[in-house]
Amino acid sequence: MSIPGTARVVIIGGGVVGVSTLYHLAKMGWSDCVLLEKNELTAGSTWHAAGNCPNFATSYAVMNMQRYGLALYRGLAEEVDYPINYHVTGAIRLAHSHERMMEFEHVAAMAEHMGLTMDMCTPDQLQQHFPFMEVHDLEGGLWDPLDGDIDPAQVTQALAKGARDLGGRILRFTPATGVRREGGEWIVCTEAGEIRCEYVVNAAGYYAARVGEWFEPYGGRGVPTITMSHQYFMTEAVPEVEAWTKAQGRKLPMLRDPDTSYYLRQETGGFNLGPYERNCRTAWTTPDDPMPEDFSFQLYPDDLERLEYYIEDAMARVPLLGTQGVKRNINGPIPYAPDGLPMIGPMPGVPNAFEAHSFTFGIAQGGGAGKVAAEWIVNGQTEWDMWAVDPRRYTDYTDKQYCIDKAKEVYGHEYAMHFPHHEWLAGRDRKLSPNHGKLLKLGGQMGAYNGWERANWFAKAGDDTSEEATQTWARSGPWEQRVREECEAVRDYVGVLDLPGFSRFKLSGYGAANWLREQIAGALPKVDRMTLGYFPDERGRVLTEMSILRHGADEFTLITAALAQWHDFELLNARLPEGLSLEDQTRDFTTLIVTGPQSRQLLSGITEADLTLSWLSLQQTAVLGKPALLVRVSFAGELGWEIHASNEDMPEIYEAILGSGAKPFGMYALNALRLEKGYRSWKGDLSADYTLFEAGLDRFMQLNKPQNFPGKAALLKEAADGVKRRFVTMIVEADDCDAPYMSTIWHGDQMVGEVTSGGWGYRINASIALGVVRADLAELGTELTIKIYGKPHKAVVQPDGPLWDPENVRLRDQGDVKDADPDQSASLQTV
Ligand SMILES: Cc1cc2nc3c(=O)[nH]c(=O)nc-3n(C[C@H](O)[C@H](O)[C@H](O)COP(=O)(O)OP(=O)(O)OC[C@H]3O[C@@H](n4cnc5c(N)ncnc54)[C@H](O)[C@@H]3O)c2cc1C
Repeated sequence: MSIPGTARVVIIGGGVVGVSTLYHLAKMGWSDCVLLEKNELTAGSTWHAAGNCPNFATSYAVMNMQRYGLALYRGLAEEVDYPINYHVTGAIRLAHSHERMMEFEHVAAMAEHMGLTMDMCTPDQLQQHFPFMEVHDLEGGLWDPLDGDIDPAQVTQALAKGARDLGGRILRFTPATGVRREGGEWIVCTEAGEIRCEYVVNAAGYYAARVGEWFEPYGGRGVPTITMSHQYFMTEAVPEVEAWTKAQGRKLPMLRDPDTSYYLRQETGGFNLGPYERNCRTAWTTPDDPMPEDFSFQLYPDDLERLEYYIEDAMARVPLLGTQGVKRNINGPIPYAPDGLPMIGPMPGVPNAFEAHSFTFGIAQGGGAGKVAAEWIVNGQTEWDMWAVDPRRYTDYTDKQYCIDKAKEVYGHEYAMHFPHHEWLAGRDRKLSPNHGKLLKLGGQMGAYNGWERANWFAKAGDDTSEEATQTWARSGPWEQRVREECEAVRDYVGVLDLPGFSRFKLSGYGAANWLREQIAGALPKVDRMTLGYFPDERGRVLTEMSILRHGADEFTLITAALAQWHDFELLNARLPEGLSLEDQTRDFTTLIVTGPQSRQLLSGITEADLTLSWLSLQQTAVLGKPALLVRVSFAGELGWEIHASNEDMPEIYEAILGSGAKPFGMYALNALRLEKGYRSWKGDLSADYTLFEAGLDRFMQLNKPQNFPGKAALLKEAADGVKRRFVTMIVEADDCDAPYMSTIWHGDQMVGEVTSGGWGYRINASIALGVVRADLAELGTELTIKIYGKPHKAVVQPDGPLWDPENVRLRDQGDVKDADPDQSASLQTV
């Protein structure tokens, strides 16, 4: 086949994901697209995959993507007229503990939210689904009727047929050999010629890091991904299973035991067992084990010893498994990103380049991944918020060792529960605060935020700081009393929070102010003041929120959440006109939050700054004689200041503040404090799933301002049509668990919304949930029900404003108001 000289999009890689991307591009009307595959389609990880296709995922976004993909697969054979062996057998997941049952309850609720049905099961019900199983030691389980297994090669070929029928081109045995950028376009090189295109997609599976290297001269980073070796084996036929299938006219459902860490399913008349073992192996990570140039259709040698523990456990669960020998083992390469989730979206730092790789469940996710990738390319945005898989979630700290450590941890805990007070241990200490040593001495229990180590809470001597103690969904634990004390210190006296890694961009140049006005929905602050800026997309949905600190007419510092660093930088940079300068200064400064009613008095001992300047003022000043930017603001909702200073100067300042009696507090306390003020958190309360109206940001919009900004027309239309969903603050009659993200909200027997974040407020002594509900239910006093881990709890809608200090009197600190913008005081940004 001849090489076309031009194409709109070139996709590198013909596994299920690349092909699904081509198919979805074609379905969206972009038929002038080409896929390059170095060998035959499916030659990478796809051909040897077991083909299991669950809906189940602990991330809502990922589960929704799988839901879409599985629905697509169910109709695909007919749609494109290509036969596919797809067994929708249903699947059971076993729970060995109450905590696991709670996890299942939450996932079942998320499933219901997206229109699926998953049923909680007793051990007896599990046995009815899968009669050959021991259940005496189980708590129960979960049944998903739409789980199953598909032939990975057939589904890929079916997607390929669908793409070709719509005009997409697939060039097999045509490796891409490099890329270069010319005149704002990409040239993708092959031995058979070059293709000039607008967009490139790296869908090269476990070769993604290698392909990614080609983009480094154009701003790309080393792709954070590692290849693991993953196995499953098939047994000879088991007569009892064959007889059951014959009698029932169907296959056994899939069985997953997440607590032991394996899946077991029927494969023809026998079994297929696939563990995720703790003693797992990376591949191709050392000099004596280089990645081959071509590994098409190849496997690693069998290594069944590694699986012994899991095989024995599975044989105890399903004794029939032990009755037959191993017919065939498959040990193949599987790529892992540091959190085990794929990378789908814009390639960080590189214009018009996208990624769709590092899939550990690429068969189950391929259908949805193709949709998401195609939407990014065609629309520059996705139907659903897909931050969970956005490549920009990993930034500058993911070196090779980090990727290896995390990949092993994630693989070995593939089915682990992600408890709210648990921090994973691998890949830590990548970015340290200048106060890190001091934080540890103070008992800081650290957590990683975009690689930055921050204290979550401060333990006292004798507190249980073990990992085991965190294996709970409950609010209570060794941290609870300490978090309460930290909140109370902030409420009654003064607390100090060490906050390294606030993302910080310097924006300057003639016209910067006007340009910024065209990016945000609201107004800019005056010089020496700050405000919050909300950046909508064309649909009026929330892309991000930044603190806008104005130092001069056209000089700004933009501060945003640690995690948002690359996302937000790219958002600004992609739109930046010639003549404006944007610089990432995240590593140049660090921050302390000093807050509480006595904070002014405390600071007056270490700075000559004017501490009577009003709420949301800023001043370049000196603290202990060191240059510092003092911003009068507090995400905790008390009188307070942020001190921004250099890394070298901050330890002395921190010591002085502690020495003056401030109590160190951590991220858990800050989260509790911000909930009481209704301050939103990014990618929970603020996501691209909600418009600014739905996120309750009305007071930060100026729809009548002269400037146009993305989403203005959509927001005006929404205002005219009537807002359909509204952000609410609720007080929940919770027990020991506060409402986690994506708990469902009910009115009678109708599901009417979802929780975007929840937690305990220690100043108001109540469980708080923030969420989005049907607009007519957002009225003060409306009684709703929130299902928390399956249990219904009464929730009452509160006034539209902070629960703590509703008039913001404590923030403003009566009597000192100079030059205030009263309308800007009601919300603050994510840290
Ligand atoms: C043993 C095993 C069992 C598995 N079981 C399951 C399962 O049950 N369910 C599930 O969902 N997932 C499973 N997986 C994972 C699944 O196989 C992968 O997630 C999925 O195949 C990834 O698809 P992909 O398209 O991203 O990558 P790949 O299938 O690896 O495709 C990438 C393609 O890119 C091509 N390529 C690379 N470089 C170039 C280049 N320079 N030019 C052109 N082409 C290039 C390669 O030849 C390859 O065909 C399993 C994996 C293993 C190892």
